[in-house]
Amino acid sequence: MRDTFLHKGMRKKLIDTLRKKGINDEDILQAMQQLPRHFFMDTAFVKWAYTDKAFPIGNEQTISQPYTVAFQTQLLDVHPKEKILEIGTGSGYQAGILALLGARVFTIERQEALYHKAQKLLGKLDLGNIRFFFKDGYKGLPEYAPFDKILVTAGAETIPQKLLQQLNIGGKMVIPVGKENQKMLVITKTGEEKYETKDYGHFRFVPFLSGVERE
Ligand code: SAH
Repeated sequence: MRDTFLHKGMRKKLIDTLRKKGINDEDILQAMQQLPRHFFMDTAFVKWAYTDKAFPIGNEQTISQPYTVAFQTQLLDVHPKEKILEIGTGSGYQAGILALLGARVFTIERQEALYHKAQKLLGKLDLGNIRFFFKDGYKGLPEYAPFDKILVTAGAETIPQKLLQQLNIGGKMVIPVGKENQKMLVITKTGEEKYETKDYGHFRFVPFLSGVERE
C-alpha cells in the first residue's frame, strides 16, 4: 500500500480536527501525522481512513476512532523507554502510535486472525519496539510484569485485578469500564495495594471478552 501526498494532506486535516476537539499533546499529534491509518484498515473502508470514526476490521472488531486513540494515549502520558502493556491489539494502529512515542510495547490480542495480521503489518512498518501476544488479555503478561502503563482498548465490565497487580508503583492503567457504554478511567497505583481513580467521561468500545478465538 502507498502513502501519497493526498493521504498526508487528509491526515493533516484530521490532526487539525483532533486539536480542535482538545488534544494538545504535540508528540501524539505528530505520531498520528506520521502513521498512515489507511494501512490498518479494511480495503472497503480505506477511503474514510481520515474521518474521525471507528471502522470494522473483521472478526466483529473495530479500529478505534482517532479521537479515542489520541485521548487514551494522552491520558496514558507516555514517556520514551516506558514498558507499556496494551490489551486489544486489533488493527495494531494504537500499538504503532505507542511505539512511535518511544515506548516498549507489549500488545495482546484474543482473535488469532487479528493477531497475525497486525504482527505482519507492523513487522513491515518497523516502527520500533513492539511484541505481539496471542492470549487472553484478562490475565495480562505476568512473565513480563511489572509495566509502567497499561492501556485497555476494549470495554471491560469490571476492572481486571490481575492487570492492576502487573502495574509498577507510580504506574497507571487507562481502561474503559462499563456494560453498554464505558467510563474512561485512569487508575494510578500509589502503593502496593493502593489506587487512585479518575473518571474522564463516556465512550463506547467493543467488549473485553475472555478466552481466545482461533482462526
Ligand atoms: N487497539 C485497537 C482497537 C481494537 S478494538 C486498534 O488500534 O485497532 C479492541 C480489541 O480488543 C479487539 O481486537 C478485540 O478482539 C480485543 N480484545 C477483546 N477482549 C480481549 C482480551 N480479553 N484479550 C485481548 N484482546 C481482547
